[in-house]
Amino acid sequence: MVSDNTASGYSAASGSATDIFQCKKCGECCKGFGGTYVTEKDIDAIARYIHKDPETFIEDFCQKSGSKHVLAQGDNGYCIFWDELCTIHPVKPGMCRAWPFIESVIKDIKNWKMMAGSCPGICTDIPENVVKACVKNELIKTGKRDQQK
Ligand code: SF4
Ligand code: SF4
Repeated sequence: MVSDNTASGYSAASGSATDIFQCKKCGECCKGFGGTYVTEKDIDAIARYIHKDPETFIEDFCQKSGSKHVLAQGDNGYCIFWDELCTIHPVKPGMCRAWPFIESVIKDIKNWKMMAGSCPGICTDIPENVVKACVKNELIKTGKRDQQK
């Protein structure tokens, strides 16, 4: 995957998510051992979406990570729901919906650059204050959306 991780022509004034991140749909974030936690809400939503009951979904599509459930991986190392795209996109777990607008970027901006190492959609030529402002905005929007569910 070739990417220069830059966003020529971004507008600092708009402070929108697309100024600093454009998903390339490469699936890089969907592979590797299951760091994708699913909450009870996620479990219910995904189970309904794939027409399973929550218990069957957990049994067939999840693995245990400590006391939590994470999405299982297929033999190819990708999330079990990855098939050239996310097959549960409308109900994908909160973790997937939030990426890459996460709290740790506001705590330490170095995390943004670190994340860009594995995510070609993250732009690295943006001033730190703009990145932080965009991430904050997105966190607020996500929080409001989740409250409405
Ligand atoms: S790694 Fe980044 S660019 Fe690739 S699919 Fe995931 S979020 Fe999109
Ligand atoms: S649920 Fe979708 S977005 Fe999340 S890791 Fe799996 S395939 Fe990727």
